[in-house]
Amino acid sequence: MADIKELLPAIRENVSLADYTSFKIGGWTKYFFEANTKNELIKALKAIEQTNLSFFILAGGSNVLFSDNGFDGLVIKIQFSDFECQDLDIYADAGAKLLDIVNLSVEKELTGLEWAAGIYGTIGGAVRGNAGAFNSSITNVLKQVKVLVLPDLKIKNFSRDECKFGYRESIFKKNNNLIILSAILELKKGNKKKIKEEIENNIAYRKDNHPLDKPSAGSIFKNPEFKMIDKGLFKDYPDLKKFSSSGTVPAGFLIDTAGLRGKRIGNAKISEKHCNFIVNLGKATAEDVLGLIDLAKETIRALFGIELEQEIIIVK
Ligand SMILES: Cc1cc2nc3c(=O)[nH]c(=O)nc-3n(C[C@H](O)[C@H](O)[C@H](O)COP(=O)(O)OP(=O)(O)OC[C@H]3O[C@@H](n4cnc5c(N)ncnc54)[C@H](O)[C@@H]3O)c2cc1C
Repeated sequence: MADIKELLPAIRENVSLADYTSFKIGGWTKYFFEANTKNELIKALKAIEQTNLSFFILAGGSNVLFSDNGFDGLVIKIQFSDFECQDLDIYADAGAKLLDIVNLSVEKELTGLEWAAGIYGTIGGAVRGNAGAFNSSITNVLKQVKVLVLPDLKIKNFSRDECKFGYRESIFKKNNNLIILSAILELKKGNKKKIKEEIENNIAYRKDNHPLDKPSAGSIFKNPEFKMIDKGLFKDYPDLKKFSSSGTVPAGFLIDTAGLRGKRIGNAKISEKHCNFIVNLGKATAEDVLGLIDLAKETIRALFGIELEQEIIIVK
């Protein structure tokens, strides 16, 4: 078997994953490699093929919970992050930060990305998870995605339709053999003052409603569909009815109604500010977070008969 250290001399050993996630949680990865270019990514994937190591693609780390036991393989961090604007289109490498792309859209007076202000992470992560907020998502502006297809390492362009987007879903989430290299976003000409105003409002909303002072990974669960709610529950929980027009019930509302606001296991806590966030109080472990996830799932299942589905990616 080939030696990964010979194939990838820039590889690092025993790297703390907590340092690379917004949760600040996770053990050590056996190997860690930063792909600063697409060619370096391809080189790393070829090395994987020759060594049979497991691998995980990491970008901004803002939607991931790594195990306390770390990762027994190679974590490849996507670092290539060039972006530019051509007329109404923004061409962005997978590792480009969503926040930088939002800033570029303001500078160029382009509208369509105001909802993304305040979301950490990269374009690649956002496309894979169909990131969204304020009733919008990356789907609404996505024109094309360039993808590296394993195991042949062929490059293929995916149109928006081919991405098979759903609520926090995409073809990429269902198939780990598809690695996003870059994306083209198509925006519209807008009014700079209005764009800035909407962004400021969205950021203010996040500051008021999200626990931004503590490490987290954003919303833990997807919001369940309203149609999954047993109408018999309206008698005991009349407030549920107010979500009938939105199509989904906020997971945070269910968790709060179940009495789990502020619930703590070890050093992880269900945020008092927003019950769909779990925050790291300082030295939380993945075990603490998983304990709260299980508790929320069991309680919501018992009370509302609903199966909560995780939005975050758990790497065990
Ligand atoms: C405070 C806070 C608020 C948040 N608010 C929101 C919000 O409003 N809406 C929302 O949707 N999300 C939100 N998030 C979650 C997160 O920021 C987004 O999901 C973001 O798009 C994840 O991108 P990332 O680069 O950090 O991905 P990572 O966390 O690094 O990775 C996420 C997943 O995508 C995969 N991946 C990453 N890059 C690629 C690639 N190039 N090709 C293939 N797979 C890839 C990884 O393997 C992993 O499975 C929030 C997070 C925080 C911490």
